[in-house]
Amino acid sequence: MFENQAEPSFRDSVNLMFDQAADLMDIPKGLREKIKVCNSTYTVRFGVKLRGEIHTFTGYRSVHSEHMEPVKGGIRYADNVHQDEVEALAALMTFKCSLVEVPFGGSKGGLRIDPRAWDEDELERITRRFAYELIKRDLIHPSQNVPAPDMGTGEREMAWMADQYARMNTTDIDARACVTGKPRNAGGIAGRVEATGRGVQYALREFFRHKEDVAAANLSGGLGGKRIIVQGLGNVGYHAAKFLQEEDGCRIIGIIERDGGIYSDDGLPVEEVREHLVTNGGVHGFPGAAYDPNGAVLLEQECDILVPAALEGVINLNNAANVKAPLIIEAANGPITAGADRVLRDRGTVIIPDLYANAGGVTVSYFEWVKNLSHIRFGRMGRRWEEARHGLLIDGLEQMTGKQFPENLKTLFLHGPGEVDLVRSGLDDTMRTAYQSMREVWHGKEVVKDLRTAAYIVSIERVADTYRSKGL
Ligand code: NAD
Repeated sequence: MFENQAEPSFRDSVNLMFDQAADLMDIPKGLREKIKVCNSTYTVRFGVKLRGEIHTFTGYRSVHSEHMEPVKGGIRYADNVHQDEVEALAALMTFKCSLVEVPFGGSKGGLRIDPRAWDEDELERITRRFAYELIKRDLIHPSQNVPAPDMGTGEREMAWMADQYARMNTTDIDARACVTGKPRNAGGIAGRVEATGRGVQYALREFFRHKEDVAAANLSGGLGGKRIIVQGLGNVGYHAAKFLQEEDGCRIIGIIERDGGIYSDDGLPVEEVREHLVTNGGVHGFPGAAYDPNGAVLLEQECDILVPAALEGVINLNNAANVKAPLIIEAANGPITAGADRVLRDRGTVIIPDLYANAGGVTVSYFEWVKNLSHIRFGRMGRRWEEARHGLLIDGLEQMTGKQFPENLKTLFLHGPGEVDLVRSGLDDTMRTAYQSMREVWHGKEVVKDLRTAAYIVSIERVADTYRSKGL
């Protein structure tokens, strides 16, 4: 539940955002309701004998929409996971997949556990048992339901789940496609670990390509030099901050973690802060930065771009009026409540919404699933052929002109695309195309005042089309 009792729950917040968009659309009442509701939520309680006694764990897997299958969505490990949250996240997955044209329905899972309270062997036993319960009911299945990592889970957990599925389905040749976000040696794909953060970077690059949109946020110029505050230096926040700093010349002036926030107007070295966090379990004590144990105050600090990348509901009715960033990109799912969204919109803050901003993860998960089903690494067949053709072109040019092709360009031009190059290209294309579909609605319809409503309109229309073509 969100802190402020005046606010709706996370799931109600997503429903309100859905309604806001659906009210502007010409869509029959029955179809609208069908698209909005969460189809099912499975709750499981299972016991695992650990440290000499049986511990009971509670897990969820929600399926929001099966208009396309498999359904897709991460599995979160956190000690406050609950049904409302999992259903909200499953709904977001439906609209996210639709917006970025990934052919999946929406799902999400959660296990109520503090992963830091258990050692690796214990976590493996708990994860395998949870996976067993889901696999038994086809809630992990290559053609039905394909989980991925989320908060508190990563490659390691996905590898255990994939192996558990393979053990229970020994003749399924597509077993590896039952989960994504696996390590490379277990059928993963290059570029998946950092995909969500990379997607946030590509989303911001695309936003800054449109002067009109930049001006709408009361900003000017390009992405380079922009002052950024990030909340959560986990998978998503760390990669986004790292790439924006190292490749786009942004200045990361604030980082908020569980134990507080650190700030430096000169910019914080992301890689070093991350090392400090991993070693010390927090950001406290990072040299050369001001520290405040109440990290949330940094959400209200002046900056150009705010990147909430930790958890939901952090910008709410209690603090929305104090948030000064003119541009917020929702790297996390649901970091802004429906109430705060209204306050910020009224003030003219531009919000790049979660269902677009963090879609990089599911996009590359889709590539991984396709790779698993095709049983071949992307680029394996064509890479050297392409390099040979480029070599021929250079030879021809050199022969015709009698001049040497510039050495620095030669190396770049001769490089045939490997898997990671193709993954990045596919992700970049996806983020650009989806942004353009949103902004067309944003600028094209007088009644649409913000990117979130535009994103929902694009998504809902596509889901509705799928239902219509099924004859529902
Ligand atoms: P993660 O567990 O890797 O990282 C979360 C980080 O946030 C951790 O460093 C944690 O210490 C920090 N954190 C937790 N509570 C905090 C608090 N109260 N204040 C400040 N920091 C806090 O998780 P992640 O995978 O990076 O996911 C983060 C968000 O991004 C979630 O909302 C998740 O649903 C969303 N998301 C993740 C992916 C993905 O591929 N991992 C994809 C799409 C969306």
